[in-house]
Amino acid sequence: MAWLRGKRKVGGSPGKKTGADWSRCTACGEIVHAGELARNLQVCPKCSHHSRMPARERLRGILDEAVICGEGSVEGNRALFAFFEMAFMGGSMGSVVGEKVTRVIEEMIETELPPDLQRSETLLRNGLIDRVVDRRKLRPTLARLLALLVPPPAPVRTA
Ligand SMILES: [Zn+2]
Repeated sequence: MAWLRGKRKVGGSPGKKTGADWSRCTACGEIVHAGELARNLQVCPKCSHHSRMPARERLRGILDEAVICGEGSVEGNRALFAFFEMAFMGGSMGSVVGEKVTRVIEEMIETELPPDLQRSETLLRNGLIDRVVDRRKLRPTLARLLALLVPPPAPVRTA
């Protein structure tokens, strides 16, 4: 995973840059200080628009401990994760591949696909995912779900 260790910036921009420390929200136009945006997990404080966030920043916002191989814990519950880094795959060949796949599907079904096909809200509406969670509530939500799904550890026997 050498690409994750390097200093190369792979993250998407949280909004249009207006200066070194300020960004403009692409949804509502609010100008937000980079520090405030970082503390707010790249969610616009005015309109709650969720900007792109590099996988490592997501890991820091959710996991107690994170290793790049995708093992960590959420509030004490062991979990395996797979985060897709759009800036990595989507940046160069990912978008081209995505467009080709979309065209092939459109030709097969002889229908134009909606432009928001891969958005979370569309996936939720079509039953492909169970829930869309505000990024700021993701950690406690995952912790609750893991606590329900993962059995507690067996008691330690003493001789
Ligand atoms: Zn906004």
